[in-house]
Amino acid sequence: MKIDVISIFPEYLAALELSLIGKARTSGLLDLTVHNLRDWTTDKHRTVDDTPAGGGAGMVMRADVWGAALDDVLGAAADADADEGANGDVEAGATEEGPVLLIPTPTGRVFDQRMAEELAGEDHLVFACGRYEGIDARVAEKFSERVRVVEFSIGDYVLNGGEVAALVAIEAIGRLSPGVVGNPESLIEESHGAAGLLEYPVYTRPTSWRGADIPDVLLSGDHARITRWRRRKALARTAKRRPDMLIDRAEPLTMEDKLAL
Ligand code: SAM
Repeated sequence: MKIDVISIFPEYLAALELSLIGKARTSGLLDLTVHNLRDWTTDKHRTVDDTPAGGGAGMVMRADVWGAALDDVLGAAADADADEGANGDVEAGATEEGPVLLIPTPTGRVFDQRMAEELAGEDHLVFACGRYEGIDARVAEKFSERVRVVEFSIGDYVLNGGEVAALVAIEAIGRLSPGVVGNPESLIEESHGAAGLLEYPVYTRPTSWRGADIPDVLLSGDHARITRWRRRKALARTAKRRPDMLIDRAEPLTMEDKLAL
């Protein structure tokens, strides 16, 4: 998978050199490049923002600078004449293949595991990290004529910039790419996975710690019992912490599940 991130603070993305994502880059599983948006400015101050049209507080990131950066990074899919289709004669986001442009914004669709799974199947993702009051709205509009554009939010709060949101999304998507997580088994029972539950509680040695013991069943070696115990714990935890996940489920609860609740 190829991932490009464009930001005015490329150093912010240094965390992507660490841990599993860092290893995936070294081994070539992930081809990840971080770009400095200011490389596409043309003035001596390398300006990327200007005052908001219509007035108001803060600054807005300029469409022309983002346009030049995205034309280059998205490549051929976005290389068409910028004026073509200006009247909306190209269906927005119609492209099935080619890069996906991801724009973090608190106004976007909330990022979740389903979205991570869906994006993990793509070949090329490009993240456009906004700052200040965000990116001129024409950028998402114009590029959606040529590539799939996904405006996403990582939650109902406001950050200073899109870099943290890009880090969150890249980690969630990247770990689903084949080979990135060493043991794919560990992805199966996870919270928000196919079972549609939160994960059961996990333990490791020491078996007794500050008066608290690991539940006997986990030391019993009886795998069928352990599986049933884990399912019950996952259900109980989900019911307590995220009861919304037990409603309108893709995978309905079994009678045994219901009795366990
Ligand atoms: N004025 C914008 C608004 O009220 O919707 C907020 C702009 S915010 C200060 C600057 C940038 O941070 C955004 O352009 C976006 O890239 C990023 N950002 C902030 N909160 C975010 C969130 N919850 N999810 C994703 N990106 C976010």
